[in-house]
Amino acid sequence: MPTTDPGMDPELLACVDVTRRLGADPSLVLHGGGNSSVKTTTLDITGRSIETLWIKGSGADMASIDVGGFTPLRLERLRELLSLDRLDDETMMRELAAARLDPGAPAASVETLLHAVLPARQILHSHADAIVTLTNLAEPGRLVDELYGDEVLAIPYVMPGFQLGRLVADRWRALDPGHAARLTALVLLNHGLVTFGETADQAYERHLALVERATRWLDEHAPRPDGAAPDELPGVGPVVLADLRRRLSSVAGRPLIVRRHTDPATRRFVARPDLATITAHGPLTPDHVIRTKRRPLVGTDVEAFAAAYTAEFEAQRARVDRDVTMLDPAPRVILDPRLGALCAGATARDADIAEDIWQHTMPVIERAEDHLGGYRSLPADDLFDVEYWTLEQAKLRSDRPAPPLRGLVALVTGAASGIGRATAAALLDQGAAVIGVDLADGVVDAFAGPAWVGCVVDVRDPAAQRAALARGVEAFGGVDIVVVAAGVFGATRPIADLAAEDWRAMFAVNVDAVADLFGIVHPILAVSPVGGRVVVVASKNVHAPGPGAAAYSASKAALTQLARVAALEWAADGIRVNQVHPDAVFDTGLWSDELIRERAGRYGLSVEAYKRRNLLGREITAAAVARGIVALCGDDFAMTTGAQVSIDGGNERTL
Ligand code: ZN
Repeated sequence: MPTTDPGMDPELLACVDVTRRLGADPSLVLHGGGNSSVKTTTLDITGRSIETLWIKGSGADMASIDVGGFTPLRLERLRELLSLDRLDDETMMRELAAARLDPGAPAASVETLLHAVLPARQILHSHADAIVTLTNLAEPGRLVDELYGDEVLAIPYVMPGFQLGRLVADRWRALDPGHAARLTALVLLNHGLVTFGETADQAYERHLALVERATRWLDEHAPRPDGAAPDELPGVGPVVLADLRRRLSSVAGRPLIVRRHTDPATRRFVARPDLATITAHGPLTPDHVIRTKRRPLVGTDVEAFAAAYTAEFEAQRARVDRDVTMLDPAPRVILDPRLGALCAGATARDADIAEDIWQHTMPVIERAEDHLGGYRSLPADDLFDVEYWTLEQAKLRSDRPAPPLRGLVALVTGAASGIGRATAAALLDQGAAVIGVDLADGVVDAFAGPAWVGCVVDVRDPAAQRAALARGVEAFGGVDIVVVAAGVFGATRPIADLAAEDWRAMFAVNVDAVADLFGIVHPILAVSPVGGRVVVVASKNVHAPGPGAAAYSASKAALTQLARVAALEWAADGIRVNQVHPDAVFDTGLWSDELIRERAGRYGLSVEAYKRRNLLGREITAAAVARGIVALCGDDFAMTTGAQVSIDGGNERTL
């Protein structure tokens, strides 16, 4: 029964369901690859029934898609478009947009016309590992025929989009009707698998069955790479990694996140003597080229890679004879027998996507090279056409401007609570990757996602600080920003009653640990691709100490002096060192409710009035201090070093 409510259409819901199931298996679908569709009849508001193709929106993730991720299109119009001899991309996307039955629905998949050609109701398309292994060998068409017989039609590679839709339309028309009725799938050579069925389950079962048959064939002819791998790679100093990131960022023209991988599969792969030749061919499916580039860099000569990429681009531009702008020429996957694999991206998530794709690429290349006569990818011309296809580039673009700290890496001490945690949150929010350090276990899970690494560290232990820094550099490639927020306040006590251990304990955290950190982190900040930025959280007490807080006030004054000398010494390395002096930030670990009540009572004030005891009469929150810190880390203060900024609502004693 046709319905105007897509949420109630059982065939669409079944399509969404199998799309998610397919998308949940990374051996079938990776990061926005693949697509699906269903042909149904919808009723418009005047009661007309319309033959409709519901197709996955472009770039949507199959694993998490819902009904809203699909776009309804007028099927009749799509079939009319397929009668054209040629259709350029821009016109095709405009026509697809115009064929939408809901102008608010997402942009349709670039593969829409392929789905419109096939008569079956339910269609599923993936770049399954087993299928792309089979189709990146010599004579893949013959292999597909041998393996699947006349149940599957092998389609030679052409550019996805209109060309592929047209080619399949022509091939389909040439089939005798009996053969067409027996077909359950297309194998797109060097690209992927398309299965179809009258029900979603049928298309899904066929998908799994054909992948399973390819997997069995591969297991018979090419044993999977065994688990044996060379021992752990030698340790690589964080400065070496940070300097490599600087060079990568320099050729990219912007800071990149660079994540190191030394898992057994990677170690085995990078130890191969034929590493350079077997990785020179290209990706498993053309879609990957926008994430990994055509090939990885083998070794560490980033500049030579960029020069070769640029030269290749120039030659390709002359071939295609159209106006194309070069993407940044930095590699996204770097393989080195000593380093393992380094995966680069504008964000930690982008670096992880490159890594995921690479993890699936390695075993395919190994099996093809070792047992199946060699790995063959598409020619460079075809891969260039996809890499510089406006429709692929659109997948990487976002409507929102890039956040200001995208690609930068920050280290924040005291990141589990108070000002440190608020600063980590603000830095993440502005696009930075963050290494959080704290004595409290809570730091590990303080934030979720690929841009966060939390390390439990006692900052009084230089070896622990060094280890956390090394771990952060392995995860993100370097450090551009350091925020020193770890600190202790201690009990209020007059000098006459002050125990020597209490004095020393205060200095150990507030001063000595920071001096240690500065010594450890300086060579890494010095190779930051954007110029290092340090912000130290000192205190109003530096300029306006309070009675009973001798150790705290003196330690923060020593910290201020340490930071001022760092500003002097490090300016030549392009590192800015600034300080904030917060006061009375009551939503931090230093202040218990009891302490606030006691202090308020001492001044004869209510807690509320005590919290706002400053010239502006405002309560100072950790989030407000964090905003000031992050501003000092940003480019608006690019010309400022050695500054001390009060964030205290105004205080007559420090004005
Ligand atoms: Zn595809």
